[in-house]
Amino acid sequence: MSRRSIRFRLTIWFSLALGAGLILFALAIWISMRELLLGDVRQLLRHQIANSQAYVESELREPRVELGEELSEFSAAFNPGTYLRVTNSQGVVIFDSNRSFPWSSGRYRVKWNGKPFMVLVSQRVVAGEPWTFAVSASLEEAETLLNRLRILFFILIPLVLLIASVGGRWLSRRALKPVDEMTAAAKSVGAANLSERLSVPHTGDELERLAEAWNSMLARLEESLKRLSRFTADASHELRTPLAIIRTTAELAARRPRPAEVYRDALNQVTAESERMTRLLEHLFFLARVDAEVVEMPQSTFDLAPLVEKLCSQISVIAVAKQLRIHYERSQERTLVLGNEAAIQRLILALLDNAVKYSRGNSEVHIALKNAANQVSLEVIDSGPGITESELPLIFERFYRGHHSQDGAKEGSGLGLSLAAGLAERNNARIEVVSQPGKGSTFRVLFQPVA
Ligand code: ADP
Repeated sequence: MSRRSIRFRLTIWFSLALGAGLILFALAIWISMRELLLGDVRQLLRHQIANSQAYVESELREPRVELGEELSEFSAAFNPGTYLRVTNSQGVVIFDSNRSFPWSSGRYRVKWNGKPFMVLVSQRVVAGEPWTFAVSASLEEAETLLNRLRILFFILIPLVLLIASVGGRWLSRRALKPVDEMTAAAKSVGAANLSERLSVPHTGDELERLAEAWNSMLARLEESLKRLSRFTADASHELRTPLAIIRTTAELAARRPRPAEVYRDALNQVTAESERMTRLLEHLFFLARVDAEVVEMPQSTFDLAPLVEKLCSQISVIAVAKQLRIHYERSQERTLVLGNEAAIQRLILALLDNAVKYSRGNSEVHIALKNAANQVSLEVIDSGPGITESELPLIFERFYRGHHSQDGAKEGSGLGLSLAAGLAERNNARIEVVSQPGKGSTFRVLFQPVA
């Protein structure tokens, strides 16, 4: 177990905390036990003194009494180790049941014959004069008990600590085993096998959440890698055609001397293709940046109505040329939405652009801004060729162009709707399409309502 592993640190900290707790616990027990035992002995001594005083007083009331003898009889009933010394007010020792006992040490606890004793000396008034009573009691029993307790603690604490640290080590190893597995699995993940996932332990704990977080990170990584390679493939594929046209046009023109207008035509075609390429590249790069989420889109609350109105009047310039009518139906309700205004403008423009592009001449494009139960939506309805059921799931794909737009007559790159979908996603909006082939299409954008 390496010193820097969580398992090692957990075991150490756990053992230290447990050890400190156990020592405190043992100390508390030992001290209270000692207080209890010594308190009992002290109580006993106080009793003994009170009894002795009462006895001396009662004996003194009797005529011609031999106090020393009486006290000797009295003390014969004491427990072994309990001695009594009585001194009268003149300092004469009237009685001493153990003359060799170190009464005069003045200490509360003394050793005699190698054994521990507690001594209590107290002045009591006997027949109006201050007498001194000294009593002793053996502490042997109490000390033996305390010693035994101490030995028990000295053995038990290290034993419990040992068991607990071994157990703790085992537990932490068991608990952290999935982390080791995850580390091993994570080490083996590379660009080639990004689709692999860690197995998620269904324990409902932090490790399950960690594995899930890992997996969703892998999923996002995989997704962005896929996007990146798709972008590279798409870009190279799309750029190949205009490049080929430029090259063949130039080669054909340069093969032999030609009249000036042929050169001019060729150069015009080269310019047109270069312009198409530039537009395509700009589109493509913007799309890639939206996809990669590097384009900043600060969100704010704004009213859609003036924006839609502005876009309608912009698009009507193109519509007029195609003899199309733009009909804008504005909402009576408030149409506040939350999102990035520039991004939403681009989104709406892509839809309007398509509606105008795919509408037949002399028809109408209907644009309706609505607010139903706090859900702001924008509908763009055209009476163009519509989109077949099989095409519907494909139109938001990058570079997908429907069969009726393949004829080349209509400008387009197949990027408009995929950009619109990307922008919608970044602005918490949703695009829905309903279409009837031959009759027209309805594109509906549902915006994020303002709370
Ligand atoms: P583009 O218009 O450049 O081809 P888009 O991504 O905007 O690319 O659209 C993808 C395809 O979806 C179009 O080629 C077309 O087939 C279909 N489409 C989009 N909008 C409409 C519409 N309003 N009516 C009919 N077809 C549409």
